[in-house]
Amino acid sequence: MAKFTKEDALNYHEGARPGKIEVVPTKPHSTQLDLSLAYSPGVAVPCLAIEKNPKDVYKYTAKGNLVAVISNGTAVLGLGDIGAEAGKPVMEGKGLLFKIFADIDVFDIEVDTKNVDEFVQIVKGIAPTFGGINLEDIKAPECFEIEDRLKKELKIPVMHDDQHGTAIISAAGLLNATEIQKKKLCDLQLVVNGAGASAVACTRLYISLGVKKENIVMVDSKGVIHESRTDLNRIKKEFVSSKNVHTLKEAMVGADMFLGLSVANVLTPEMINSMAAKPIVFAMANPDPEIDYDVAMQTRKDLIMATGRSDHPNQVNNVLGFPFIFRGALDVKATAINEAMKIAAVKAIASLAKEDVPDIVNIAYGEMNFNFGSEYIIPKPLDPRLLTIVAPAVAKAAMDSGIAQEPITNWEAYKLQLEE
Ligand code: NAP
Ligand code: MG
Repeated sequence: MAKFTKEDALNYHEGARPGKIEVVPTKPHSTQLDLSLAYSPGVAVPCLAIEKNPKDVYKYTAKGNLVAVISNGTAVLGLGDIGAEAGKPVMEGKGLLFKIFADIDVFDIEVDTKNVDEFVQIVKGIAPTFGGINLEDIKAPECFEIEDRLKKELKIPVMHDDQHGTAIISAAGLLNATEIQKKKLCDLQLVVNGAGASAVACTRLYISLGVKKENIVMVDSKGVIHESRTDLNRIKKEFVSSKNVHTLKEAMVGADMFLGLSVANVLTPEMINSMAAKPIVFAMANPDPEIDYDVAMQTRKDLIMATGRSDHPNQVNNVLGFPFIFRGALDVKATAINEAMKIAAVKAIASLAKEDVPDIVNIAYGEMNFNFGSEYIIPKPLDPRLLTIVAPAVAKAAMDSGIAQEPITNWEAYKLQLEE
């Protein structure tokens, strides 16, 4: 991981123009005529056109390329409930990533409420501005209801990235890791440590890819989510296990895969030693994983390991997904981001890891030589092919599942346009 001091981080954000993003006009604005077109009286013409034909909002405004990154600051990074305003640097940062990776413009919106009804009402109220909505850093379990309700009530793509971004990238890793370890998804014995936003979404997606619910043991801060427990909320009840295991240690015996989305240092070398042959460990608590990368790798030679960290191989980084998922969704004016689109993204990301890696990527990571295998199960974030592979796959899945309002007809032209 690149080294910097706290002062470096503050200086980066401060500067003559504080923050990380600005608004830039996209039309000429140097003459009196330009200004009367940009604003009154010329602007009234597109206003009336949109009033007459609401779809023209995509033709005459920035809506179609504008995503809201919306948070109430209740689960910011690993920092917890630090409040709407304190979360703003993260939301601006997400705006920066959307822009540089997929040329999507973002307004970051920080909403000062923890009340689900009020939050949903506010997002619905401002939705006309946007082509899509990226919900961010909202704590569980509220995040589930907020996303469910907004998806039902809005006709634009809505995605809570902490849930589905993580699920999609890690699922791409799952497909490749199980292939390398010669394990079938339908037989995979999976232990999920954590039962929050990301763990629940990952587990749901893994199930839709073929992992059997009865082969999953989920563990929260109180132990295994077992059918005998009486303290479970509606979401956790979805994952109750009837196996006779009650602790993480017991659950790990014979497991094929550990998926950690919990807290640092809860997985021990003994637990990894008790797993089945050719185990898979995705230890994704940030910034410190459930077990240290080097400790885990020294424990088992037949292990495939992924973490959330950039200083080790196999980083599960959401930036591999959200810019391109939204790009594809916006480009066909999809009315949602549905399961088919998520699975298309998973498969596109997984398949990219099997392609020869261009020099530009190897150079970007300090003359590495990435090859599909246990230390390269997912592409690297700076791989420029993500845009031209993932966005079209998502767009096509939207079309095939019948939720694209403006299908793409010329795929070659579309890919060229993405490369521009
Ligand atoms: P979250 O919604 O707060 O969920 C955290 C979950 O961890 C809760 O279910 C909690 O249990 C559980 N937990 C806490 N201590 C535990 C323990 N000792 N054993 C087992 N479970 C325990 O958080 P989240 O957004 O899902 O994120 C979870 C972690 O994953 C964070 O460290 C986050 O940074 C990381 N993450 C990484 C990536 C990535 O690498 N790409 C993506 C997303 C998240 P209770 O339900 O009992 O409180
Ligand atoms: Mg987040």
